[in-house]
Amino acid sequence: PTPPDAAAGATPVMAQYFEAKARQPDALVFFRMGDFYELFFEDAEKAAAALGITLTARGNHGGAPIPMCGVPVHAAEAYLAKLIRAGFKVAVCEQMEDPAEARKRGSKSIVRRDVVRVVTPGTLTEDGLLDARGANRLAAVAVRAGAAAVASVELSTGEVECWAVARENLASALAALGPSEILVPDRLFADEGMNTALRSAGGVVQPMPSALAEPAASEARLKRLYGVDTLDGFGTLSGAEISALGLIAAHLETTQAGRLPALTAPRRAGEADVMAIDPATRTSLEIEKSLSGSREGSLLGAIDRTITAPGARMLAARLARPLLDPAAIEVRLDAVGWFVERRPLRQKLREELKGLGDMARALSRLALGRGGPRDLGCLRDGLARGEAIAGLFAGAPAPLDPPPPSEVESALAVLHAYDHYELGAFRQMLAEGLGNDLPAQARDGGFVAPGVRPELDQARALRDDSRRVILQLEAQLLADSGVALKIRHNAVLGYFVECTAKAAEPLMAPPLNATFIHRQTLANQVRFTTVELAELDARIAQAAERALAIEVATFEAWREAAIGVAAAIQAAAEGAARLDVAAGLAEWADDVGGTRPILDRSTAFEAEAARHPVVEAAVKRTGQPFTPNDCRLDGAGAVGPRLALVTGPNMAGKSTFLRQNALLAVLAQAGCYVPAKRLRLGVVDRLFSRVGAGDDLARGRSTFMAEMVETAAILTQATPHSLVILDEIGRGTATYDGLAIAWACAEALHETNRCRGLFATHYHELAVLEGRLAHVANLSLKAKEWNGDLIFLHEAGPGPADRSYGVQVAKLAGVPAPVVIRAREVLERLERETGAPAHLDDLPLFAATAPGVAERSGPSPVDIAVADLDPDSMSPREAMAALYRLKGLL
Ligand code: ADP
Repeated sequence: PTPPDAAAGATPVMAQYFEAKARQPDALVFFRMGDFYELFFEDAEKAAAALGITLTARGNHGGAPIPMCGVPVHAAEAYLAKLIRAGFKVAVCEQMEDPAEARKRGSKSIVRRDVVRVVTPGTLTEDGLLDARGANRLAAVAVRAGAAAVASVELSTGEVECWAVARENLASALAALGPSEILVPDRLFADEGMNTALRSAGGVVQPMPSALAEPAASEARLKRLYGVDTLDGFGTLSGAEISALGLIAAHLETTQAGRLPALTAPRRAGEADVMAIDPATRTSLEIEKSLSGSREGSLLGAIDRTITAPGARMLAARLARPLLDPAAIEVRLDAVGWFVERRPLRQKLREELKGLGDMARALSRLALGRGGPRDLGCLRDGLARGEAIAGLFAGAPAPLDPPPPSEVESALAVLHAYDHYELGAFRQMLAEGLGNDLPAQARDGGFVAPGVRPELDQARALRDDSRRVILQLEAQLLADSGVALKIRHNAVLGYFVECTAKAAEPLMAPPLNATFIHRQTLANQVRFTTVELAELDARIAQAAERALAIEVATFEAWREAAIGVAAAIQAAAEGAARLDVAAGLAEWADDVGGTRPILDRSTAFEAEAARHPVVEAAVKRTGQPFTPNDCRLDGAGAVGPRLALVTGPNMAGKSTFLRQNALLAVLAQAGCYVPAKRLRLGVVDRLFSRVGAGDDLARGRSTFMAEMVETAAILTQATPHSLVILDEIGRGTATYDGLAIAWACAEALHETNRCRGLFATHYHELAVLEGRLAHVANLSLKAKEWNGDLIFLHEAGPGPADRSYGVQVAKLAGVPAPVVIRAREVLERLERETGAPAHLDDLPLFAATAPGVAERSGPSPVDIAVADLDPDSMSPREAMAALYRLKGLL
């Protein structure tokens, strides 16, 4: 560990290092030294530990060896990924010139180096570090005059969004974006409640100086970012939106060292546009990822039939932000429906989409200066493919009668647009100029097609011709000397003559030593040059250098041309993605027998024969059928109850039923078909789900506390247009507490929030609410006992469950037979004696654990067991187990 002022007395290279480090104090500096990125001092210690690589030392500084570790440049990406995942920022300090250039300046000169980029989780653009089918967003939040906003940029595609929300909804809005990095003004960061809320959205929270979010500074930076004189073209941005966008601009300026992607104008949304889904609900419903964090097992994983990566990202974004306006949803549904009816066209389209590359990401890499000829190739091929796709629609028999829905039509329009924009010329230029075998980097050369640049063709001819001359020279030298020699090439010597040490003897003696000039003696080989060879070598090197320089300049020109038509390329890429999403959803709808949901602004929810898309797929894989279920709810009480109390034994399918109905709303409002015979839905403004034993121990909350925090949010925020699903609320505490809380919540939802709700509970006592509240109905998932075994019908029907079958479920779960038999005995006795306090003194099981219970006739075994519980210290699993134990005592 070396304080920065210790830079005094450093070698020139280390002085350069200290300078870079001083500018990036909180990042690990990857300092380029030839083929390695090296890290020094504390950076080296941290990186070596995080990467599991060797920590060594290099030279001396201030009288002590400098701790050092390094990663090879060619493998740097993987190390970078690991460090970013471990929470580090990495500043990449590159060599800005060839060592030869530095030498030209003087023997003491060192290579110029500069930080070209700071890598953070939200600014990754490398294909290898990104999930092709997932977005990687950098978000920022800001609050101004009580109004808040979220802005985000996807650097790998240039998409910018911003979203004005109420302060308390920041976390929901952020969760919808799922950013990997969140910039927060430090004044907000210091607000603990806000900080916790922001962290719940996932992603690394990065505090930023609040001054960067000041309106004037933000506006100026934003104009600079977009290269515009006024922001009027973006509509009326609120102060908070400008601040949030300004934070992003500031972060990009520092991390991208001036290189900026082709950014789209901010796409704006407001709270009135999107269904609010808080982070807890999003997680518990497993919309974009399952609880284990994978795409598999999530709603998205189940319905995604898109072909292209941009299509997959668009679908994920839609599912993350279902819409509220029925008309906007219909636009999407029209497109899906159109493809449902046009299966052959859909299949042709999907075939064609298979060869479509990720144009948005290729374009962004080019704009950021990290792209290469392959990215140009991706644009060239993608644009051609886009044209072919548009052609499919023109070529199909009478395809435009009736005309395609607007979503399809607008997508086709941008794919057709080449003739109308410079895009046509750009495409033509690449089609003619770009070769077929493309290297990743421009400096590898060989990608400009012959016949495009006459100077290049000349230089190449010279280079290639010289190579032929070399072969001739080799043959001639061999003939003249009679020695078995070869002309070879390496980076240090250039071309040289080589032969074995033994064969070399005549070359070093007169008369041949007049021709052969000795250069190097190795263990077994001796190397020479000749005047002619040295001249040739220089000519070849020059020609190759010139050819490469021309290619690099050509690449640069093409790169700039691509940036010039960025907006049109982005539009074409998006158009193709739209078609992919619509056709993919149609494909899924066909696969699962989905239907088009009917949307309006009522408060009705009418699902007929609906299924859970994820559980159904899982159940079917085991060869079992999935039982479809109806669900009717209505805030106004017209087509169903406002609140349904759902009971039934464990494993009967309560959670599945609850989630299935919530997911139907998400699907329908995202513009997807739904797995149901029919769904009519009054659009849901906010969706809430408190399901399962979700735990929040990471944030130091007990299960019960977490449950109550989420319940509080629901009770304060649900409106008559909301949909709430609550699963076994109150189970984290003692029985009566829990029952009381569940009871009060049900009443409040019914009376105050007046939202549609499904309320699953183990408290059969709640069933009486049906008679006491106007719009409450009991529903249960049926099971029946057969030969002492329990059979789940998974069928939701009216009325409460008759009993809980806990003992049967324990048996199914593999609880040892003696325990099950014993439990059944206890249960029978308890059931015989309902009403009266249980006399269990003759049951050794309880006598052993609670001696003297019967004598005192005071506390019952239940009381004692309850008193022994410490809900705050219990894990969800322990709490469940305890609850079953208690239930067994009743
Ligand atoms: P509960 O919440 O009542 O304990 P779950 O909803 O977790 O029950 O369902 C338990 C299991 O039952 C699920 O994992 C699934 O395999 C099966 N299941 C649930 N609903 C259905 C259904 N409608 N049809 C077929 N199987 C179902």
